[in-house]
Amino acid sequence: MEHEVRVRFAPSPTGLLHVGSFRTALFNWLFARKNNGKFILRIEDTDQKRSTKEFLESQLEDMKWMGLDWDEGPETVGCHSPYFQMQRLETYKKYADKLMSMDKVYLCYCTPDELKQAREETKSAGYSGKCRNLTPQQVEKLKDEGRKPCIRFISPPRGETVFCDQIKGEVSFENNLLDDFVIMKSNGVPTYNFAAVVDDHLMEITHVIRGDEHLSNTPRQVLLYQAMEFEPPRFVHIPIILNEDRTKLSKRKGAVHLLEFEQKGFLKEAMLNFMSLLGWAPKDDREILSKNELIESFSLDGITKHPAVFDYKKLEWINGQYITSLPTKTIVERLKPFIEEAGADPGEKDFTWYVEAISVYGNRVKTLVELADSLLCFFRDIDEYDPKGVKKHFKHDYIISALYELEKRTSEDEEFSVESLEKIIRDYSEELGVSAGKLIQPVRLAITGTTASPPIFDVMKLAGKELLVDRLHKAAKFVESWKADS
Ligand code: GLU
Repeated sequence: MEHEVRVRFAPSPTGLLHVGSFRTALFNWLFARKNNGKFILRIEDTDQKRSTKEFLESQLEDMKWMGLDWDEGPETVGCHSPYFQMQRLETYKKYADKLMSMDKVYLCYCTPDELKQAREETKSAGYSGKCRNLTPQQVEKLKDEGRKPCIRFISPPRGETVFCDQIKGEVSFENNLLDDFVIMKSNGVPTYNFAAVVDDHLMEITHVIRGDEHLSNTPRQVLLYQAMEFEPPRFVHIPIILNEDRTKLSKRKGAVHLLEFEQKGFLKEAMLNFMSLLGWAPKDDREILSKNELIESFSLDGITKHPAVFDYKKLEWINGQYITSLPTKTIVERLKPFIEEAGADPGEKDFTWYVEAISVYGNRVKTLVELADSLLCFFRDIDEYDPKGVKKHFKHDYIISALYELEKRTSEDEEFSVESLEKIIRDYSEELGVSAGKLIQPVRLAITGTTASPPIFDVMKLAGKELLVDRLHKAAKFVESWKADS
């Protein structure tokens, strides 16, 4: 029988959750769910200087936002708490002692300064093995000096370490490039490679799915597996994510943290969909896939070898697709905080209004921020009229009287429907002997302050009678004073 699939996501809480890390979490989660396996969350918090509670909480929030639930943890009251490496120091000590008793590791008393000096002298970053064969007398002397040792692994001096990566095939590293690396620091805290191997073994991880940048750590981990006589898991190193210009995804080029995408008004469904396509594709090349469809189609052989490109336009397109396809109720709920953020009270409008607003504006926007921005003119006064639009559309002699007349006619419109409003504009433009467009643009400017909007009769209806009449009146007044000034 095949073993149960057990995978883990092992973030370090040293920053906000990066989209690259999130993609790693997602691939692990999809793989676990697809195979009815287990997804384990392990917090690698051994870098005590850089790990913070705030980063941890933010990363956990992101995981929850995206619905990446984890299955196991030391505490299972209510929901599982993740594993924390700093709570497992005893465990690592036990395995370090075991390696010591097997003569696979040794104590090293070198100070950081000595190491630095040696690196400069030998012009090599590797450790020389200086403390490997210390005599008991030498050790006594070093101890007397108050030095606290770290533990180093005895790397094989020759040969190669070979392992199989499920994406890259056979990978081999020359052992002479691997120095005697530290497995435990002098303060009893394990290094990443050692803690990861002990944990992956004890947590019975079957597949280590992680970013390409960890490929170079793998030979050291493989050596540790061999030394401890553990069976290694399968390694799956997923391709790096690049910007469109093929440079490394970096903060300078735009958002890189999941949180920033949430703040920009991207929907979790769209993020999940888009991120899963970074370095993986379903067999049938579908681009819009729900969470369930992703789980169903996910497989490791769909992961590409070549780097993934973060195509922002594609993300926007996918987000736009979800804005129009998710239940309106969901969009309304998620939109409201953005309206508030933009400085308006979302409670001013009722649900029916939002439904209409989304049907009118939904297919023109890429994000909830854009949607909120477009709708803001229905919540509060517009700051200014687009200056170019003013010059072009408010210049005609008939504009002032036309705006007043439209104010009157719309205020008297009992029906106040898209059709009745259209009729008012068309009839009046005929009476004036101008094309409907000559009235439509000024009205658009009057309501939205801009020269572009969805079909104007929808916008007029959406404004509601009171606001529409008020905007037409204010625009007429504005044109009066603008003309008087010029
Ligand atoms: N803590 C490591 C990281 O955040 C985990 C690497 C691994 O998955 O082995 O990159």
